[in-house]
Amino acid sequence: MGWIRDELAHLNESVVGKNLEMALSAYDLMAEHAGIVSLTDDLSAVGWQHPDWIELPLEEAGISAPTIHAADTSEQLKTGLWRTMRPVIDYERCNRCWWVCSTFCPDGAIKVQEDGYPRIDYDHCKGCLICVAQCPPHAIAAIPEYLAQEEESSEEGV
Ligand code: SF4
Ligand code: SF4
Repeated sequence: MGWIRDELAHLNESVVGKNLEMALSAYDLMAEHAGIVSLTDDLSAVGWQHPDWIELPLEEAGISAPTIHAADTSEQLKTGLWRTMRPVIDYERCNRCWWVCSTFCPDGAIKVQEDGYPRIDYDHCKGCLICVAQCPPHAIAAIPEYLAQEEESSEEGV
């Protein structure tokens, strides 16, 4: 328990006490599983050998290079389906800096329109939220995808 005290030394005794209590309670709950995990010998890198060099045969460009206009390539594959969080731009706060979010988006899913405002392509935005972190005036919020879809459905009267 000493390390908990060390970690929380900057907090008051009541907080430290509660954390100790919770840690002990978790420890007691695990008592019935005692012995399940056993100690092993120390692992050592001595004797490790790197894998052998592998010669790869030269491939035709048509095999090893993607054809980006073929089906299921970046444009046609709707990677937006992977998204669990959706970035939403508050256009009242956006100051049309025009390059930050669109440049940082690793998927090229933000396009700047002629009026200077960015537009997110939700078919391809994967929800990494880098744009949310980078936007200087914090004009992009992250909301759970399922809530965004529920809101869309209610707006459409579905
Ligand atoms: S980074 Fe933010 S302020 Fe700049 S264009 Fe994008 S949303 Fe607007
Ligand atoms: S969440 Fe990620 S993928 Fe989506 S628009 Fe922002 S930076 Fe691009």
